[in-house]
Amino acid sequence: MKVARLARMAAMARNKLLCSSHLASMHISTPTSRQISMKTEGLTARLNSAGLLRTQGLIGGKWTDAYDGKTIQVLNPATGEVVADVPCMGGKETNDAISSAHDAFYSWSNLTCTERSKHLRTWYNLLISHKEELGQLITLEQGKPLKEAIGEVNYGASFIEFFAEEAKRVYGDIIPATLGDRRLLVLKQPVGVVGAITPWNFPLAMITRKVGPALACGCTVVIKPSELTPLTALAAAELALQAGIPPGVLNVVMGNAPDIGNALLASSQVRKITFTGSTAVGKKLMEGAAGTVKRVSLELGGNAPCIIFDDADLDVAVKGSLAAKFRNSGQTCVCANRLIVQEGIYDKFAEAFSKAVQNLQVGDGFSEGVVQGPLINESAVQKVSFAFVNLCICDHPTLK
Ligand code: ADP
Repeated sequence: MKVARLARMAAMARNKLLCSSHLASMHISTPTSRQISMKTEGLTARLNSAGLLRTQGLIGGKWTDAYDGKTIQVLNPATGEVVADVPCMGGKETNDAISSAHDAFYSWSNLTCTERSKHLRTWYNLLISHKEELGQLITLEQGKPLKEAIGEVNYGASFIEFFAEEAKRVYGDIIPATLGDRRLLVLKQPVGVVGAITPWNFPLAMITRKVGPALACGCTVVIKPSELTPLTALAAAELALQAGIPPGVLNVVMGNAPDIGNALLASSQVRKITFTGSTAVGKKLMEGAAGTVKRVSLELGGNAPCIIFDDADLDVAVKGSLAAKFRNSGQTCVCANRLIVQEGIYDKFAEAFSKAVQNLQVGDGFSEGVVQGPLINESAVQKVSFAFVNLCICDHPTLK
């Protein structure tokens, strides 16, 4: 019975999110529409004049189209408007990006740690000084409310700041030897070219979290951002060039994800794959990396229950559950996918949580007061609709 009520509550919450994505789903069904609102046009013009609306890939320091000229559209999920066209790249462009990263590896890894640290610190400063524009780009292509998007810029930039400092602290070890005539030293060295594949839910932070440590220790990188949110990645790459990070150290390709992934996996010059995304793709990458024995770091999906015990502070529990469930409109890998509430606090919690959910303001992330942006695209809408139907079924009297 109680489980059924919580299911109803969660269903209600999801229903609210569905409403937020309603607009996007209607527009996304006609994505070829080139009608663009004055607001979006003004925004893209401003980003363009700031040099931050990059719409080509970056290979060896050169802004590059797909070799066959193909493009893909980047949509604003709140309105369905086409924000930009970016190249639909594949294996050939990726191989060139890998070669550029490989060529740049020798000189980048031979810089002193202080020199690499300075480059990263300059990049961090530029990310922070452009936080408004980067936040706008994130809201434009990913949908999260502007305040949250600017929060992501601070969070994303903090990885570059942290690793600018850590660049100087890549210590080794001295291990006591078991033989008197030996000395055992551990030296930490960069592995080489890194392939970084990132998702759309944090278009900046997922990149900086991977690229920061790689560059700090002397690796060079080929980034493949999500095709849904490539513009933030490209703007960050532009700022990396402005920061003096040499051409080829950081490359960006996007387009046909399996082709790009396969090229990264097949190359013996790529020595590490770092990935955040679905478990299914993570498994493919892990399997594909075995052929050339690459190192692999995977951050995949999970199960995240949020548990509230009888002795919880109700306000803290409601605030925490709300953040856990609704941050980024529920599109975060650590978002709670079930709430488990102990019997003694259940009724009070259910009432307070329902009220808090009702008060969430849903809409375009650029609108004042909005705390819930749209879901990323039509298939996300379908997925949540399916979950909503399932919850209604769970709530059916026969299942109580
Ligand atoms: P989600 O379901 O959250 O979108 P995905 O795992 O599908 O997660 O996507 C995360 C990243 O992985 C995106 O950049 C996507 O383009 C990329 N990707 C998807 N399929 C492949 C693949 N076969 N090889 C390499 N990258 C892929």
